[in-house]
Amino acid sequence: MILGFDNSFHDSMDGFYAPAEATKPGAPKLLLFNHVLAERLGFEVAGSTDDELARTFSGEAIPDGAAPIALAYAGHQFGHFSAQLGDGRALLLGEIVAPDGARFDIQLKGSGPTAFSRNGDGKAAIGPVLREFLVSEAMAAMGVPTTRSLAAVATGDRVQRERAHPGAVLTRVASSHIRVGTFQFFAAHYGADHVVRLSDYSIARHFPDLVDAANPHLALLDRVIDLQCDLIARWLGVGFIHGVMNTDNVAISGETIDYGPCAFMDRFAVNTVFSSIDTGGRYAYGRQPQIMHWNMARFAEALLPAIHRVAPSDVDAAKALVDAIPAKFRRRWQAHVRQKLGLAEGAGDDAELIDSLFDELEKHGVDFTSFFRALAMLLRGEGATMQALLPAPDAMAPWIAAWWQRIEEGAQNPLELAEAMDRVNPLYIPRNHLVEAALEAAEAGDLAPWRELLDVVRDPFVARAGLERFAEPGPVDAAPYTTFCGT
Ligand code: AMP
Ligand code: MG
Repeated sequence: MILGFDNSFHDSMDGFYAPAEATKPGAPKLLLFNHVLAERLGFEVAGSTDDELARTFSGEAIPDGAAPIALAYAGHQFGHFSAQLGDGRALLLGEIVAPDGARFDIQLKGSGPTAFSRNGDGKAAIGPVLREFLVSEAMAAMGVPTTRSLAAVATGDRVQRERAHPGAVLTRVASSHIRVGTFQFFAAHYGADHVVRLSDYSIARHFPDLVDAANPHLALLDRVIDLQCDLIARWLGVGFIHGVMNTDNVAISGETIDYGPCAFMDRFAVNTVFSSIDTGGRYAYGRQPQIMHWNMARFAEALLPAIHRVAPSDVDAAKALVDAIPAKFRRRWQAHVRQKLGLAEGAGDDAELIDSLFDELEKHGVDFTSFFRALAMLLRGEGATMQALLPAPDAMAPWIAAWWQRIEEGAQNPLELAEAMDRVNPLYIPRNHLVEAALEAAEAGDLAPWRELLDVVRDPFVARAGLERFAEPGPVDAAPYTTFCGT
């Protein structure tokens, strides 16, 4: 198997990581391999058997050219600074450059302890591995920037959590694993020289267009803020709740990373929280923009030594960039919702229409995902879908009338508009009740429901006959859904 590694972080960032070794799995067995992604990465795996893939993507056989390392990072967890985190249950096999020139990290998650494991076992249970695989693939299919999942391999070992679970390793593909927490680690422990090096490396790797900026570190801050505003707007747009928006879980590439207790909202409620440990609702659905702002303030702080070194007066510019986040996010979010609603740019009163939409959805307990598809059906002259969603036929009549008026002002062909809306509003998302049922079956040894769900969410925008149940929310009277971190 030729993967063609080119390990720039390992080769040029000595001092920013620790060498790592994978624990040999007892009996690796391939659960799933993402052939489409492998092809996109330029991997030559056509002649490989499942056993070979299982050995490579479980850490049993380290491929030629790999240089396994664990990255150091720190992070604010639920608002409190942890100075020493790092890859405790993951190792970076190395980097590859895809045929189109894009560079990717290939990481094994759950491959045993590293220098940063503290008291953890470095392992992952099969449930969270399959969950991350499914949700990250769904996010990618919905057009949300995200790390990807290349392989899931059962290790044949047991992993002890509140009870024993089958162990597994996930191969995660990311445009890098540099986090806000990576900057925080080197700012806290080493100071300006290290921050400058990390920033220079990040710019060269992710944003080469910023190399010649007057103050590249300030430009990096600006760019990462931009990407985060875009990312969180997209999360909100699909009803996604990350669940642990700690600064160590914020990738500077703008990709969604670290799928732990994340989940999607069915019926709209702005304070929705699924994570068992988020008792204060810090990372509730509607708080994600504020938390992103807070996280970017921490990123700015970590970058300040580098920004200051180039131009002391740019410290004020950095502060201004952070202060401008709420307004910037709001603009981005409104543009995104306008797209979901089929509204053309630039009418004065859209802000009110958009804000009142979320009040209405909450008041009537409307399924968030289905609502936007039902709106498009109205444009096709079909009102039954919307009626079925609402608690009473006229529940949202005034809002829908106001929306309709705006649509008519746009003078676009309604059928074309409906098509355009369907291209940005997913029909099939990883619904909580479906995910749970599929994972339960998988844990009992039957992967078929999980594979079926994966197939469904990989093609989220186009309605397919026979898949109606995948588009429906869970039962109204179901117990509150709770997710757990315990990978
Ligand atoms: P997370 O909550 O997944 O973002 O992880 C936070 C920190 O805990 C990271 O430094 C992880 O590497 C570490 N960690 C989480 N689970 C384990 C584990 N099972 N073994 C070792 N370290 C872990
Ligand atoms: Mg993490």
